[in-house]
Amino acid sequence: MRKALVVGNWKMNGTQSSIDVLMHGLMAQLAGCSSGIVVCPPNVYLDQVRKLIEQTPISVGGQNLDWHDKGAFTGEVSAEMLADLGCDFVLVGHSERRTLFGETNEDVAMKCKASLSKGIIPILCVGETQAQREAGETEDVIASQLVPVFDKLGTEAMASVVIAYEPVWAIGTGITASPQQANDVHAFIRHTLAEKDLNIANNIQILYGGSVNADNAGELFGMQDIDGALVGGASLDAASFLAICQAAVLV
Ligand code: PEP
Repeated sequence: MRKALVVGNWKMNGTQSSIDVLMHGLMAQLAGCSSGIVVCPPNVYLDQVRKLIEQTPISVGGQNLDWHDKGAFTGEVSAEMLADLGCDFVLVGHSERRTLFGETNEDVAMKCKASLSKGIIPILCVGETQAQREAGETEDVIASQLVPVFDKLGTEAMASVVIAYEPVWAIGTGITASPQQANDVHAFIRHTLAEKDLNIANNIQILYGGSVNADNAGELFGMQDIDGALVGGASLDAASFLAICQAAVLV
């Protein structure tokens, strides 16, 4: 039985004081939440959040990492540094990283490997653009994003990975994939992994991301292959994020 997971991606938002307000709002109302909860603040606020969540079930994650161990990579942050700051998770291959910062599937695979080497669970983000969906290429695109990671990590390591399906056309647009559209891709991802290892495929958590909010979360979580959510905009408001966490009960 898979456990639901809800991950908040704060992107490049927040100040020390707004994060204090957001986290206290969240921590005050956790009683109705049975899912795992992860928040991914900007790196400079990881330590602040880590200290706030000490006695709570909330985990903290990074939004990105560099796959090198250390060295002359100005501005970058390694897996070891994230682990040192208490991160249990890290987003890898978010579409904004792929599109705005030119990350390739090979980079993404290297980052997943680096994070696992330090005991951090990578949340591997995959998803197609609107044009790719309209051209009927969704499954080919998803496979082309997954396979290099499977090859680099080996099948067994996939047991320690979370996958997030985020159609690019649904991120930050207010347009959500329909529950059926999302579930079809989740089922395809699970099937692709099942060809390598059925047990891992049945147990891996596959999250949906793309304009998830308090109103649409329940219907998404009602789908068989949707195990949680990766939430951008709505994770910046405690009440909205909590409502999503409370809806995260798997069928
Ligand atoms: C995201 O950034 O991963 C995301 C899904 O954003 P939003 O929820 O705002 O669409």
